[in-house]
Amino acid sequence: MAQRLIGAVEAGGTKFVIALAREDGTVLAQARVPTEAPAATFRAMADFFAAASARHGPIAAFGIASFGPIDIDPASPAYGTFTTTPKPGWSGARYQDALGRFGAPIVVDTDVNGAALGEWQAGAGQGCTTVAYTTVGTGIGTGVVHEGRPLMGFSHYESGHIPIARDGLRDPFPGHCPYHGDCLEGLAAGPAIEKRWGQSLSALGSPADKVELIAGYIAQLATSLVLLHMPDRLIFGGGVMKAPGLIEAVRRETARRLGGYIQAAQLDAGLAHYIVLPGLGDEAGITGAIALGRQALGEAAA
Ligand code: ZN
Repeated sequence: MAQRLIGAVEAGGTKFVIALAREDGTVLAQARVPTEAPAATFRAMADFFAAASARHGPIAAFGIASFGPIDIDPASPAYGTFTTTPKPGWSGARYQDALGRFGAPIVVDTDVNGAALGEWQAGAGQGCTTVAYTTVGTGIGTGVVHEGRPLMGFSHYESGHIPIARDGLRDPFPGHCPYHGDCLEGLAAGPAIEKRWGQSLSALGSPADKVELIAGYIAQLATSLVLLHMPDRLIFGGGVMKAPGLIEAVRRETARRLGGYIQAAQLDAGLAHYIVLPGLGDEAGITGAIALGRQALGEAAA
């Protein structure tokens, strides 16, 4: 069977990575476009796909893994539309307006769900029935992939804003979230760490007490993810997780919090195989976007 072509978009706050790929994931053409006003960025994106399609053939589906907040409910009239994003000009922008002229089905999901799907497909989540991928960077978010599909409710999950137990004597920092103060993102995302201590964990030399404090917060999410989703594996990526010693501390603290309550083959002693770093690095996003495009192909065929 001839390979159909997928247009894939990994849309980030600073750049769009766009690619034309075959169904099997082979990338035929790839480009980067800076994230400016939507009119300019969407035009550059559409121009790329028009040129790539003229060369390689018609595009059968689009997969988009995007920054947000964005409507990812296929049943919603606003599907694919940016909602309350603080990024100037982007609220109300809609992917279908830019790509509709290609006449191909479009699947839109979040950047975190895209990366989760990419890790499930080709990274640290391979072979898992259920995998939870969390990014701890400028923000915090989790994508839960079950049998090759990112889970959602009426909208995408917002694990970064779950409430967190904080010992005010040990950590007097009131938190950095404009909505909740000391939610997880307000305590453990990159901007919260820099606001509290002036620098990133890595730049501070990853002192043990600070690493333990941040790990304690991330482990509260890890524990909740285990209890709520029973994933086969937890993946933690993003800039903050690059701090030396942090993933090890998250394993220790998660094991302590679980208290031996969950007995399962998936949870190895020490959790070294259960709580892991990503396998794909920077490739996770575009790999996931291609997988979303494959999902759009499947839905078109169904
Ligand atoms: Zn919050």
